[in-house]
This record gives sequence, C-alpha cells and structure tokens, in this order.
Amino acid sequence: MHDADGVEQALAVLARRKRRVYEAGILLVVGVIVANWFNREPDEFVVTYVYPVTAVVFLAVLPLLRSERVALRRLEVALYVSGGTAILLGMLDLLFLNDTLEASLLELTGAQYWAFSVLLVFGFVMFDRRGGQWLAAGLYLTSLGLALAAILRESARGTLSAVPVIYLLRMHVFLAATLLLVVLVASLREQLHRALERAQLLGTRAMTDPLTGAANRYAAEERFTTEVADAERRSRPLSVVMLDIDHFKQVNDTHGHDVGDEVLIAVARILARQVRPRDLVARWGGEEFLLVLPEADLDAAIEIAERCRRALEAARPAGLEVTATFGVAELGADEPARGAVRRADVALYEGKHAGRNRVVGGADPRVVS
Ligand code: GH3
Ligand code: MG
Ligand code: MG
Repeated sequence: MHDADGVEQALAVLARRKRRVYEAGILLVVGVIVANWFNREPDEFVVTYVYPVTAVVFLAVLPLLRSERVALRRLEVALYVSGGTAILLGMLDLLFLNDTLEASLLELTGAQYWAFSVLLVFGFVMFDRRGGQWLAAGLYLTSLGLALAAILRESARGTLSAVPVIYLLRMHVFLAATLLLVVLVASLREQLHRALERAQLLGTRAMTDPLTGAANRYAAEERFTTEVADAERRSRPLSVVMLDIDHFKQVNDTHGHDVGDEVLIAVARILARQVRPRDLVARWGGEEFLLVLPEADLDAAIEIAERCRRALEAARPAGLEVTATFGVAELGADEPARGAVRRADVALYEGKHAGRNRVVGGADPRVVS
C-alpha cells in the first residue's frame, strides 16, 4: 500500500517536471519562430504563414500545461502534430519550392534536419519505445523519400550538382545513426523499467502475507524497529497488541481448512478497519496478529484493542462466532524492541487462561525485565 503510493507520487512528480520542461521548450520554439519570422525572405511561404500558426498552437498549450486540467498526453500530441507539420512543410518548401537544392542546402542541413532530428527523438520521450520507434521510422522514411524525390526532380531538370546529393545522403546517414542510438537507449530504459517493476512486485510480495494481504512477520519486525527508533527519538509513546483467535483449531476441524482461511482473511480486514492509517496490522503467525500502534500509550492501545475485540465478536465471519484474545504492551523507556512484543504475548496468554475473548494490559516493563 505504502509502496504503491510512493510510485504514484514519483510518477506525479515526473509528470510535473515534464510539464515544466515542455514550457521551457515552447518558449524556446516560439522565440526561434519569431526570430525566423522577422528575418524571413518575401517568398518564404512556410515561415510567413505556417510558423505563426504553429507558434499560436504552442502558446495556446502553455496555460494548459500550467493549469494541469488537460491530460499531459493530449498536450504532447498537440505539440507533436503541430510542430511536426511545420517541420515537414518547411522541408517540402526547401526541397521543392526553391530554385535549386544547392541554394537551400545551408538551411536544410543547418536548421531543417536539425529540427527534424529533435522531432524523431521527441517521439521516444512521448511514447514508449515501440510507439517512438514506429513514429520515427515512418518520419525517417518520409524524409528520405522526399530527399530522393527532390534529387530525381532536379536531375530530370538537368540542374543537379553533386554537393547537395552528398549532403542530403550524409544527413540521412546521420539521422539513421541518431535513430539507432535512441532506439538502443530507449530499449535499455524499457528493460530497466521492467526490472524495477519486477523488483517492486517481489519487494511487496516479500512483505505481504499471501493469504490475508496483511503485512507479514518480516515486514512487521522491520516496521516495528523503525517505529521504536522513531518513538525513542521523539519521546513519543508506542504500543503493540498481540492477538490470537480463540479455539481456531475447532473452526478448522468442524468447518474445514477453507472456512478457516476465510475467517483469517475476514479477521485481517476487520482489524485493518479499526485502526488508523499509520498503524500496522500484521499476521504474526498462523492465527496470531500483531498491531503496531505509534503515538498510542497503554490506555489508548487497550481502547483500540477493545474496539477490535468487539468488532470481531459482532462480525461473525463466515457465519461463525469468532472471538480473539488480546495482549497489550506499551514500549518502556530503554526497553529493547522485542521486550514489548514479549510482554504483549505474556498478557495474551494470561487472557487465554482467564477465559479468552478479552483484552489484557501487559505488565510494567520494569517489573518483568
Ligand atoms: P486457543 O484459543 O488456545 O488459541 O486455541 P486454538 O485452537 O486457536 O489454538 P491452536 O494454536 O491449538 O490452533 C491454531 C490453529 O490455527 C491450528 C492451525 O491448524 C490453524 N492455522 C494456522 N494457520 C492457518 C492457516 O493459514 N489457515 C487455516 N485454515 N488454519 C490455520
Ligand atoms: Mg488460537
Ligand atoms: Mg495460536
């Protein structure tokens, strides 16, 4: 539960950071567009008309990125499609609408393909590896096709020189190498992501009792140790409650193991409902549960245990009368962590001998140890 919350929080932080990066990117792109627009030649159709439209779309996305009302993915698609369209139209313009390829060469290699390579890489930022790969492959082949078409067209017109052919082909070799590198990095990222997911799943499994979904004994010990340190550091009370279902063997013997399991699952759920979110409910052993209650002194812990006892008695899981006996202990000053658990256990067995279905407060730690 805590781990899942942590992952969600980390993803939210990541999404927020992404929004900030996009904001900076938008300002940069709009700045470039404005600079280009003021320096445009009179016959530059794309710079004159397409760039301003792109800038308007980008600027419209800006407040939406800030407000976080619109899903990030939608904004990313809007940015990608408008930016991509402007870049591809710019490419068409330079490849087909200018006098010669040689005249466009500086702008093609110095600006157009540079922007295009950003577009290719950005697909991997937006989508997963597979999506980015297909998008980039499609765009790359389109660009290569356009470059070859422009070369053929110019060759047919008899104005082709060697320099633009060499540079256009070089540019596409560069783009292919970039693409390969990005695919490699993206697939490494994907593998790492999968490994982390798997580690997290295993980590959660290692801490969880598979039957009831409650924390297992290992998790309880670990958590208890940190809570003890925390309570000592801040001089706050800390209590534990050990409880054991009464005559549970009879449930198994009379109704079968499956009904017994059902009862255990129900007990874990009932206990979890009675405690505060910060408290821990753990399955300590077969039909024994441990509650770790930070900030609760002995009286408060006895009250919580009593509430659990009554809730259990009233619940009738699997239609059966199920009760439990509770031992409660507050951690003493300078008492070792296990001391409180041992005293709760002793109190529990006192409760069993006294007739079960009751809450017993543990002895003063100084008397026992
Ligand atoms: P008491 O009131 O003294 O605690 O009596 P009890 O019958 O509950 O005590 P005992 O320790 O003799 O019995 C515990 C039973 O819990 C025995 C065991 O079969 C059963 N048990 C332990 N783990 C599981 C489990 O995972 N599922 C089921 N169905 N039963 C379990
Ligand atoms: Mg029992
Ligand atoms: Mg027992």
